Amino acid sequence: MMTVSELERIANQLRFDTVQMIHQSGDGHPGPCMSIADIMAVLFFEELRLDPKNPRWPERDRFVLSKGHACPLFYAALARRGYFPMEELPKLRSLEGMLQGHPDMNKTPGVDTVSGSLGNGVAIGLGMALGCRMQGFDSKVFVIIGDGEQEEGVIWEGAMSAARYQMGNLIVFADCNNNQSGGKVTELSSLYPVAEKWEAFHWHVQKIDGHNVEEIREAIKNAKAETQRPSLIECKTIKGKNIPYMENNNAWHKRTPTPEEVAIAGEALGIVQ
Ligand SMILES: [Mg+2]
Repeated sequence: MMTVSELERIANQLRFDTVQMIHQSGDGHPGPCMSIADIMAVLFFEELRLDPKNPRWPERDRFVLSKGHACPLFYAALARRGYFPMEELPKLRSLEGMLQGHPDMNKTPGVDTVSGSLGNGVAIGLGMALGCRMQGFDSKVFVIIGDGEQEEGVIWEGAMSAARYQMGNLIVFADCNNNQSGGKVTELSSLYPVAEKWEAFHWHVQKIDGHNVEEIREAIKNAKAETQRPSLIECKTIKGKNIPYMENNNAWHKRTPTPEEVAIAGEALGIVQ
């Protein structure tokens, strides 16, 4: 098991990889990547049962990045886990590369589903969880959704069905950074409170600080111990986390960092170049 500081260092490395990739490729969504970095570090470097040499291993845990526009950080995690060479990262969003602007299971090893047409991840995860259960695998399915994304009606169809099928092997993180493409979630819709809605749909619900590695670990442990109800973990997060000019600044939802901004990010994240 990794130490907390090792996982925090990995999360910041993934953040920096993301900034560099988007700078090099000239396009992408940096802000939404930063809020999920700590969750991703715990999942990909400690929690998930996977085999980078055999990406389609049937008994692996599944992962669905429902907020698919945050894929640069997902790709960085996959490269650093050895699914493909690091040299692929600068080819983000290019025709000759394997890394699409939104995740594509047919192009990128380690990606379990297409995603990024928002709202579909809970229902897709439910299908995967049912499939694993029917085949007798004890695999878990982990999904990350955004907060604004929960405005999509299909999220709640998935939520309803997952409870009905008692999918204790389905664990959803809600990345609640109170920002979405068009502005503050609380100013655009009356989505909050999040936790109470999932409780009403008969899910096992926890609320944590989504940047606290120990809280993320503990929440996963609790979710795995719950064998009947599917789990929703409401993660309070900051869009652009750990890069001062990006934090809570929705201008960075989709924007390309300049060379100077890449350097500032590296310094803020403690990356030695
Ligand atoms: Mg959001």
